[in-house]
Amino acid sequence: MIPVTRVDLGGNEARYLQECIETSWISSEGPFVRRFESDMASLTGQKHAIAVANGSVALDLALSILDLRPGDEVIMPDFTIISCASAVVRAGCVPVFVDAEPGTWNMDTTRIEDVITARTRAIMVVHIYGLPTAMDKVREIADKYDLLIIEDAAEAHGQSFAGTPCGGFGDVSTFSFYANKHVSCGEGGMVLTRSDIFAERAVRMRNLGFDPQRRFFHDSLGWNYRMTNLQAAVGCAQFERLDATIARKRQIGIMYREQLTGLPLRFAPDHWNESDNHYWVVGAVLDDSLGMDALALATKLRERGVDTRPFFWPMSEQPVLAPYISGREYEHPVAAGIARRGLYFPAGTAISNDEVQAACTVIRNCLG
Ligand SMILES: *Cc1c(COP(=O)(O)O)cnc(C)c1O
Repeated sequence: MIPVTRVDLGGNEARYLQECIETSWISSEGPFVRRFESDMASLTGQKHAIAVANGSVALDLALSILDLRPGDEVIMPDFTIISCASAVVRAGCVPVFVDAEPGTWNMDTTRIEDVITARTRAIMVVHIYGLPTAMDKVREIADKYDLLIIEDAAEAHGQSFAGTPCGGFGDVSTFSFYANKHVSCGEGGMVLTRSDIFAERAVRMRNLGFDPQRRFFHDSLGWNYRMTNLQAAVGCAQFERLDATIARKRQIGIMYREQLTGLPLRFAPDHWNESDNHYWVVGAVLDDSLGMDALALATKLRERGVDTRPFFWPMSEQPVLAPYISGREYEHPVAAGIARRGLYFPAGTAISNDEVQAACTVIRNCLG
């Protein structure tokens, strides 16, 4: 079976882990945590970086440090992962979903203004699958209506929009370092901000709400969201090779595009605005004309040794979120369509060219 993700850990990962063990710095107090935080702050141009246990809790923490009140509305993409919506709901806020844009699968920024109300307080942006969201438009709307920007850059390490790094746009921004991300440490996340106040809250909330002056005294209820030095050691080694990872992911993405040309499926553009696609995943959407949805193709591919994953299922179609949404009716035909007809192919950094070739041959046979 050719797996969807197999990570290349061939840099300094083992050496840095060894260092953790030899020095016995294995908890969140170790030096790699601070180094990884400063790496991510400099990558994004943010002032503060707060390492946490994973990308989902990074979103929870991000929502908890803003001055949001119950009932405030947060505009966000319909086509994303549940972590984004659950963080909004847990903050007591109301998620308001905007449909995807058919070309890039990112939030359709031309639809944001349609859903703004007097309760709208923030726009959550998620850069999807390898291309950035149109941040010029988001910035313009946020300025016009005085809204906060929450930026989930979990799929966009090293990506940029019009010269500004992804993760650098948010009043608060987040990353994930899950095994399949461009910088990985197995499980890990980061919260970034320019605000001293937000950062101080995040540091406290990450660590059980400890009062910095008075240990074991608490004036807020936090969580233990700390990242270990072991995780950060792998993250630092991965960070050193981010440029090489992006270059390799682009090679893999371009190989798939070239070898699958002429088939009834559509990729997001290789280049859009001023950004190259970084292929966090190599996804494709099957043509409507094809009498097969993504699930049927995935089953055929798996029988022939090629693993795939389905696209995100839209937030507006999640029964668990139904009690928390605004109740106003919006149509999301693009997200609904790509959810049913989209899937992504094996493209981890450790995949060989031969494996990509083999996967393409199987895909071609199943669709031919
Ligand atoms: C991966 C991902 C997350 C969640 O990160 P975890 O580290 O898996 O919790 C959040 N948002 C987006 C857009 C992601 O791709």
